[in-house]
Amino acid sequence: MADAPFEKVALIGLGLIGSSLGHAMKRAGIASHIAGHARSKETLQTAIDIGFVDSVCEDMGKAVSGADLVILCVPVGICGSICEQIAPDLKQGAIVTDVGSVKAAIIADCERHIPAGVHFVPGHPMAGTEFSGPASGFAELFDSRWCLLTPLPDGDPLATQKLIEFWQACGANVETMTAQHHDVVAAITSHLPHLIAFNIVGTADDIEGVAEQEVIKYAAGGFRDFTRIAASDPTMWRDVFLHNKDAVLEVLERFNEDLGSLTKAIKQSDGDKLFEQFERTRHIRQNILDDESNQ
Ligand code: NAP
Repeated sequence: MADAPFEKVALIGLGLIGSSLGHAMKRAGIASHIAGHARSKETLQTAIDIGFVDSVCEDMGKAVSGADLVILCVPVGICGSICEQIAPDLKQGAIVTDVGSVKAAIIADCERHIPAGVHFVPGHPMAGTEFSGPASGFAELFDSRWCLLTPLPDGDPLATQKLIEFWQACGANVETMTAQHHDVVAAITSHLPHLIAFNIVGTADDIEGVAEQEVIKYAAGGFRDFTRIAASDPTMWRDVFLHNKDAVLEVLERFNEDLGSLTKAIKQSDGDKLFEQFERTRHIRQNILDDESNQ
């Protein structure tokens, strides 16, 4: 692939997002060579067997050495230490990015380790499933989904542009914003819904007088959707809540207030209030569907 936009791309972390990126890059012919690194030999072997990378390295430094683009696809909490470890092996002019679900904390952890002459452009594809690991990825994961980039204020615009084109070639729509704004957007659209799912499934499991068997047997509609979300990877989600604390607490406070007012409406048999709220949320759903069909 002589005229591919990137000579060598290194994927650090080969789980759902890393493997999906490997597949998407191969589909688009974006990289002449994709090198992969993960923690375990099993993952490295699976990546080679499936073929979404061209080579794997047990040594992270070797994986990133000579790469034009390095993509961190690891849990949020370890991005800083990975940057520190790969720093000496990064090529001058290389772009380093990540896919972490939180942005301000990752920038705080990573930026100081990025050598001069290397461009750090943080990112977050708003796409995922409840599955993890190297066998869970697929090329279409990012198709027509948003990828949010949060370039640093003094970052190189050309590096950002190159990354925008990279994500577009992987099928995504791209938008740029500040890390702080991203974290609030992600808190309301993704982190809070996950927290609610983890909570509701836990509550159903604990509720007295309802046996676990009944929860499984009668799980339908809404609850079933919550169990899918609540099956998401515990390490990833622990890191998200530990690293997006302020934004999550801010939206959680608002959520608790609104839940309080719905609780009051039920207590007071205030049907108008309940109807008005459900009518409003129904319109929001319709707007999302209209937006998707216009893309
Ligand atoms: P995943 O499927 O669990 O994969 C994580 C990968 O990171 C694995 O390959 C793992 O290696 C590797 N890893 C973990 N610790 C490592 C270390 N110390 N050194 C090197 N590699 C290490 O996770 P994922 O769902 O792809 O998530 C990765 C990132 O994407 C997270 O930051 C998450 O916030 C973000 N994200 C996830 C979603 C989603 O829905 N899942 C959506 C958008 C963004 P082993 O396989 O060898 O253990």
